[in-house]
Amino acid sequence: MIAPVLPTYNRAAVSFERGVGARVYTPEGVEYLDFGAGVAVNSCGHAHPHLVKALTDQAQKIWHTSNIYAMPGQENLAARLIENSFADTVFFCNSGAEAIELTIKMARKYHYAKGHPERFHIITFEGAFHGRTIASLAAGGQEKYLEGFGPKAPGFDQVPFGDQKALEAAIGPQTAAILIEPVQGEGGIRPVPNHVLRELRELCDKHGILLLFDEIQCGVGRTGKLFAHEWAGVTPDIMAIAKGIGGGFPLGACLATENAAQGMTAGTHGSTFGGNPLATAVGSAVLDVVLEEGFLDNVLRQSINLKQKLERLKDQHPSIIEEIRGSGLMMGIKCKVPNTAFQKAALDEKLLVIGAGDNVVRLLPPLIVTDADVTEAVNKLEAACVALEKK
Ligand SMILES: *Cc1c(COP(=O)(O)O)cnc(C)c1O
Repeated sequence: MIAPVLPTYNRAAVSFERGVGARVYTPEGVEYLDFGAGVAVNSCGHAHPHLVKALTDQAQKIWHTSNIYAMPGQENLAARLIENSFADTVFFCNSGAEAIELTIKMARKYHYAKGHPERFHIITFEGAFHGRTIASLAAGGQEKYLEGFGPKAPGFDQVPFGDQKALEAAIGPQTAAILIEPVQGEGGIRPVPNHVLRELRELCDKHGILLLFDEIQCGVGRTGKLFAHEWAGVTPDIMAIAKGIGGGFPLGACLATENAAQGMTAGTHGSTFGGNPLATAVGSAVLDVVLEEGFLDNVLRQSINLKQKLERLKDQHPSIIEEIRGSGLMMGIKCKVPNTAFQKAALDEKLLVIGAGDNVVRLLPPLIVTDADVTEAVNKLEAACVALEKK
């Protein structure tokens, strides 16, 4: 008999009833250290008082109106995102896939508005992950996710990760844009070198095509800058964010320059729930926290702290760990044992980590982690390594 909840997930047999900071608790009161943060979602940790207050204050006022009326919460959050980014305009949605969907639509509409409807192809990269809708799956191009869901949506050309020649060869008269995650998340925490992002920007400018960044996982403070691409000193034309901006409340956004958004006139896109008052209240509270003086410095400090400790762990357990890589508090452990076994061993030590492609285990702790949290996490990983060595 099929499960009451559609069985599309391989779920661990554990559930959590409450959380505070970087810790979550089962109904029996067992404490776990959360270095997954719901896949980079709980950017401010669990039950952050400022986020709880923003949500509950808004909940007392109004939950939903409609995007057919003015939305002061959206205007406020958009203004703050614009003030702190390359963007001139923002559309709010509920998830990462929806943010990517609009990123794709906007890039195509841009060329359409400029009299080039034939330019609708988007170049993407092997190992990418952009979501689970029909279009975002085609953009990600991963066979295992595409299989059985009908013909792959047209207009996506995938090139190998880090192959500049193949990339240039893929650009043709139908190309509208290049879409990339500045740090690949699901693909196994693969940061794109800064010089490559700069080359992509030059290439796009040279060919009159748009540069699209998927910062759904790596954005909103995760790498120690508000947005990961700031490290490279280049900006995209359109960018999708989600995950961390909601701090646990469903919220996504598509940020764009005025130029890139020129095709998106009234009636060309919409969403019932997108940018709902509860979501934008929380999004704004997340920005309060992340943009506070010193917050991103802590992300960087803990990043260095974590990376040093992980490198030491790698040296001590060379039969378990192959490589440590990542940026900020987006760290990957490439395993020599199956990453699922590593993840399970960590879970046995009451540490939550997340699997990824390329046999990597991801560490994506809340951005509020302390020295003590990092030390404890690495101690648990050490115990996990020892347990795996005994097998
Ligand atoms: C999670 C993720 C998505 C999809 O987001 P959903 O909210 O699950 O639709 C897209 N791109 C990247 C890089 C992601 O990490």
